Amino acid sequence: MTFATLGLIEPLLRALETLGYQTPTPVQAQAIPAVLAGRDLMAAAQTGTGKTAGFAVPLLQLLTMEGPKVAANSARALILCPTRELAEQVHASVAEYAQNLPLTTYAVYGGVSINPQMMKLRKGVDILVATPGRLIDLFRQNALKLNQLQTLVLDEADRMLDLGFSEELANIYRMLPKKRQTLLFSATFSDDIRQLAGQMLNDPLSIEVSPRNVAANTVKQWIVPVDKKRKPELFVHLMRKGRWKQVLVFAKTRNGVDALVDKLQGLGINADGIHGDKPQATRQRALDRFKSSDVQILVATDVAARGLDIEDLPLVVNFDLPIVAEDYIHRIGRTGRAGNTGEAISLVCADEVNMLSAIEMLTRQTLTRHMEQDFEPEHRVPDTDASGQVVKKPKKPKKPKTSGGGGKRNLGKWVDSGEVAPAEPSIKPVRKVPVFNTGPRKKK
Ligand code: AMP
Repeated sequence: MTFATLGLIEPLLRALETLGYQTPTPVQAQAIPAVLAGRDLMAAAQTGTGKTAGFAVPLLQLLTMEGPKVAANSARALILCPTRELAEQVHASVAEYAQNLPLTTYAVYGGVSINPQMMKLRKGVDILVATPGRLIDLFRQNALKLNQLQTLVLDEADRMLDLGFSEELANIYRMLPKKRQTLLFSATFSDDIRQLAGQMLNDPLSIEVSPRNVAANTVKQWIVPVDKKRKPELFVHLMRKGRWKQVLVFAKTRNGVDALVDKLQGLGINADGIHGDKPQATRQRALDRFKSSDVQILVATDVAARGLDIEDLPLVVNFDLPIVAEDYIHRIGRTGRAGNTGEAISLVCADEVNMLSAIEMLTRQTLTRHMEQDFEPEHRVPDTDASGQVVKKPKKPKKPKTSGGGGKRNLGKWVDSGEVAPAEPSIKPVRKVPVFNTGPRKKK
């Protein structure tokens, strides 16, 4: 199959050729004809498999072939993204695909001055990429009207539809024309979100190009059990031992990011961090410097988990496991992209066993454990498997109580503590653990 057989027009074919795209990826092969036919879509495909072109390329074709010229302060298509960095990246891809077309594209997001965005919107743009908060601000300030909108795309749709964004999305929905095409793209769709999404779409086509909720099989994944307090030390040890060159590291909290960056910088390691408390310009600069290999270690919260395309990134480290199991798939999807291989290592402490179990259950795999010498945890991480069971080892039998003080001299019928047989010889699963994907989430 070629892009030409999908019915794309010549200026798009030329742009794709310039970019070195020879054949459509599976998600593109299915999504492009469906979008061109005007269908609503719910498309699930692994991260890094070309989703952006899957919606952007046919969208550009539709906008070129049909519809009126864009009016002042209007947009004909809107692509919503959960983070500013992703909005910037998606816009850069859309602009590349549109390079031979007479269409205008633009990205708006928070954390930067709104005035230049208002100026730019005056003439209208054909495709607008936006984060929800800034889009609403622009709408309220009359800088943007959405009555000309033909198509709405939710990139990372499951994140856009979860509770963290629900209020903003409800507001945006009220601004949109009822008659429109809606496209949802994501690597993961939880069942709740799938149901919700079904209600928003009109006779949708569901595309699922890979088994549900799995990471690309190009990513080798393993975990290292370790005590919580020794994680920084283990990270530095593994980094030196493995001679890591470029690593994206995920930590749970903003403070956690700052603490690890401080520690690494204190050791003379070229590290930087991004999280939601940092100014947008600082965030983007850190990301750009990481992408160009000027920064070796980028430590981030889940603000960097989704969609970011970092060419040839070899390694992702989960310094902390994510609270929401789906985020694991997104995080490790930053490596092993576009057919490359990658590696994902998670440092796991005993407190995180339920998260580990939820991840294994979601991804239907038991992650390989690697015990690092001198870092064996004092607080053992119980065994887990893909069935969602946490397996506890039997406790060591207690020494029998003896009257008149303990010690080996007065052991009664017990011969010696070393020879005591365990009361419960078998290892058995003790309980099911919950999946961490249902609770409300805070905005990042
Ligand atoms: P995405 O999943 O859209 O972020 O794309 C992941 C990476 O794959 C990006 O670097 C794209 O430029 C690249 N890519 C997308 N589609 C193709 C294709 N058909 N052939 C080669 N590379 C592609």
